Amino acid sequence: MDEENIINHTTSMASKPPNARREMELIHAWVNNPNVDPGSLIDWPGIGASPINEYVTEGLLDMAFPTLFPDGQCDWIEPRIRRVHLHEFVKHLLRYRDHHFGRHPRFRYYMMNMIMRHRAQNSSAMFVKKSLQEMPITINELREHMENIPHSHLADRLMRFGTTLRGTRSYWAKCRAELFDLLHQIGTPTIFFNLSAANMYWPDLHALMPRTQPTNPQEAQKWRRQNIIDYPHIVAYYMHLRYTMFRKEILQKGMKAKDYWSRYEWQHRGSPHVHGFIWLEGAPNIDNLDWKNHDELKHAKKYFDSIIHAWNPRGDPHQRNIQVLQNFTQHPCLQNTQQLNQIDLTRDYEELLNCVERHTMCKEGACLRKKRGRMVCRYNAPWPLHLDGSKLFEDPATGDKVYEPARNDDRVNTHNRNILQLWRANVDWQPVLSRHVVMNYIAKYAAKA
Ligand SMILES: [Zn+2]
Repeated sequence: MDEENIINHTTSMASKPPNARREMELIHAWVNNPNVDPGSLIDWPGIGASPINEYVTEGLLDMAFPTLFPDGQCDWIEPRIRRVHLHEFVKHLLRYRDHHFGRHPRFRYYMMNMIMRHRAQNSSAMFVKKSLQEMPITINELREHMENIPHSHLADRLMRFGTTLRGTRSYWAKCRAELFDLLHQIGTPTIFFNLSAANMYWPDLHALMPRTQPTNPQEAQKWRRQNIIDYPHIVAYYMHLRYTMFRKEILQKGMKAKDYWSRYEWQHRGSPHVHGFIWLEGAPNIDNLDWKNHDELKHAKKYFDSIIHAWNPRGDPHQRNIQVLQNFTQHPCLQNTQQLNQIDLTRDYEELLNCVERHTMCKEGACLRKKRGRMVCRYNAPWPLHLDGSKLFEDPATGDKVYEPARNDDRVNTHNRNILQLWRANVDWQPVLSRHVVMNYIAKYAAKA
């Protein structure tokens, strides 16, 4: 696997931010609407000279989000019989039955930021308490201390405290360290995978949506698109549930993965994917493989051939990549997973592969990167054909370890047939042939906050 394949600079750990321009347009349209009764408009909250303390001010959320709390009830800061944690409060609101909290373009980001700040506050308070003896008193003293002794006991402890704060540099450094430990304890992983989402199709996802699905296929397609825009919190939670179940049932029980490491990411347009490494039982030990030993290579190649595929069942290139997408009723990702037992699996594989598994076009801003003055696909597509079977070898010139699956289609992604048919969206599935690939991943990517 080429490390470039797994380094994607266009993604982030947080889902799509709100479109501020669209929000302003909507506000202006509403205010300028002649049909709006001026008596129904409420006054903008007043702006005071002193900053508001969010820890003690009752009704702060009511004032900040009047449309979400129209009757001023159930604010975060208010007298309560029992203690409620902030993350529980937010979770409850996001699951509120009419989903108006989840649909709000800004509320979830505001609350996420608040949770992060509160966690930081709590751990720093605990940190100060524990380190009272050695703690510099003023901010200048602290800066001076850090500059003079960057690797001090205090600096180490400060970093350790940061690891509990999700999304921070320290948190991702901890995740990176976990992958590093796995690498050292159980060796090089077998597979690097990337599972995308078929948000526009997955029926199990849309079954969770509050509005009823229209019967007309074209209308249903529009309805699904709108669901994705309106209910991003449902999409994110469904992705988490789907992947967690898939990992337990398919990767761990089905494929006998001994261990895994993975993380979620959201692309610019808000579509989630999950990528990571798995260690499979019975896989050849790559760390001890003798790349000059013909028998060992043959054995390893046979193993990879059994779990890595790039052969298009449609032999005729003109029959590939047919725009099933145009047909709103027959897209294979519309197949309900419960009905999979009743369908023709060979035909399903053929359709699914030609719908979601081909890298049909290289685009600027997506996969094309400038390399030695020339635009090239960072996944190296189109890939060379291997009609006479797969290859596993060590390049004598560069020392690179290479596995190339049998391939009759220069645009089909490397995948695993069963994983593709069960996950039912684009899958990238590649062997990890050296420890260096994982080390590079760790260094360049895994810690990206
Ligand atoms: Zn490309």
